[in-house]
Amino acid sequence: MTGEIYKQALARLDKAASYAKIDPEAVEKLRHPKACLEVSIPVRMDNGTLKIFTGYRVHHNDLRGPTKGGIRFHPDVSLDEVKSLAFWMTIKCAVVGIPFGGGKGGVIVDPKELSRMELERLSRGYIEQIASFIGPETDIPAPDVYTNAMIMGWMMDEYSKIVRRLSPAVITGKPIPLGGSQGRDDATARGGYYCIKELEKKRNWDPKEIRVAVQGFGNAGQFIAEMLHRDGYKVVAISDSKGGIFRPQGFDVPSVIHVKNNSKELQAVYCEGSVCQLVEATQITNEQLLELDVDILIPAALENQITKQNAARIKAPVIIELANGPTTFEADDILQRKGTLIVPDILANAGGVTVSYFEWVQNKSGFYWTLEKVHQALEEIMVREFNYVYSVMESHQCDMRTAAYIHALNRQAEAVVAMGTHHYFSQQDTNKITVAAMS
Ligand code: GLU
Repeated sequence: MTGEIYKQALARLDKAASYAKIDPEAVEKLRHPKACLEVSIPVRMDNGTLKIFTGYRVHHNDLRGPTKGGIRFHPDVSLDEVKSLAFWMTIKCAVVGIPFGGGKGGVIVDPKELSRMELERLSRGYIEQIASFIGPETDIPAPDVYTNAMIMGWMMDEYSKIVRRLSPAVITGKPIPLGGSQGRDDATARGGYYCIKELEKKRNWDPKEIRVAVQGFGNAGQFIAEMLHRDGYKVVAISDSKGGIFRPQGFDVPSVIHVKNNSKELQAVYCEGSVCQLVEATQITNEQLLELDVDILIPAALENQITKQNAARIKAPVIIELANGPTTFEADDILQRKGTLIVPDILANAGGVTVSYFEWVQNKSGFYWTLEKVHQALEEIMVREFNYVYSVMESHQCDMRTAAYIHALNRQAEAVVAMGTHHYFSQQDTNKITVAAMS
C-alpha cells in the first residue's frame, strides 16, 4: 500500500518527468522501490526484559551505483517514510552527480529513552538483521535523524564481525579514528551554506542585514547557524523539538550551542569563557518560528513542517531545506505563487551524502584526505550543481525543486539509455547492430 508521504514524493516525480527528457519506462521504474526489508530486533534491556524493535531498510534504485542513505532512529519511523526517504536519496545522488543510487533505513524507537548500552545493543542488533542486505558494493548506510558517528562505528564493527573482515566502506559517517572522513560532521550544513553563499552573490546580500530562522538544533541546524553567524548573518530564531527562542538583535550562536550541548536545554544565553548569562528573548513555538518575518528560513528538523495549512503565512522569501521533505507538495504550490525561493532538500542537504561518498572512496583506496581537500571537493560540487539547477530553473521558468528533479532525471536517463530503452529493444535489426558494433 502506498502511504501519504510516498504518494507526495511520486507527485513531484510526475511533475518533473513532464519536463525532463526521460523515458516513461524509467519513470515507472522510479515509482517502485527495488526492495524493502522489515526486521524485528530483539534487545535485552538493562532491567533484564526482552524488547522487540521494528526496523526497515529500503533499496530504492541502484542504476547509477550502490544504494546509499542514512539510518534514522525515531518513534515515528514507518515503512512509508523510509521508502520516501530512499526515493529522495536516489534523486539527491543524481542531482549532485555522485555514483550512488538511493536507500534508507530506520528503527521505530525513541533513543532518548534508552541507556547507552541499550542503544549499542539495538544498533548492533539492527545490523545483525540487515547484514545480508547491505555491503560496500551494494548498499551503504550512514547517519540520519538521532543517529551519530559513534553508532556508525558500532554498526561497522558489527558488520565486520559478521563478514569476518574489516569493512569500513560498508557505512559512512564513522568516527575519524575508525575510518571516518574529515569534514563529514558538518557536511550537511556546509553544503547548504555553499548554496547560501551563491545566493548571497546573486542577490547582493549584506550578511549583517539578513535575518535567519533555524528550525531544529541537531547536527545540521547547529552547524549552519554557526557558519552563518561567523559570516555576520543575524540568527534571530532557533528551535528544537521542545520549542524555540526569538531575539530580533540575533543570538551569539556559539554560546547557545555550548549550553544546548552541555545541558540539553535550548536557552537564550551569552557566554564569556565558561560563564553564561541569560539574554532577553521571546519563547516561541516551532509553528511560530516558521511564520516569522525573516529573510531566510532553514527547516533543519523533520518532514512535513510547511504544509497547506501554514504555507500562506510563511513570510521568509528564501527557504533552505536542510531537513528531508520539510515542505509538502501542496505547500510548494502556495509558496511558488508567492514567489518564495525554495532551495530544495535534494540539493540543499546533499553535502552530507557527498562527503559520505568521499569517505567511501577513502575507505576503498586506503588513502585519507585532509580537511582542506574535503572542503574544496565539496565546494566544487555544490557550487557547480547549485548554479546548474538555478539555470535550469530560469530556462524552464519553474521552481527550483522541479529544476533539481529535471537535472536528476536527465542524469538518470543517461544511465537508462546506456542500458537500452524500449526504443532500442523494439528495433527489428537489433542483431545486425550488435554484430556491426563488434566487428
Ligand atoms: N542522512 C543523510 C541524508 O539524508 C546522509 C546520507 C548519507 O550520507 O548517505 O542525506
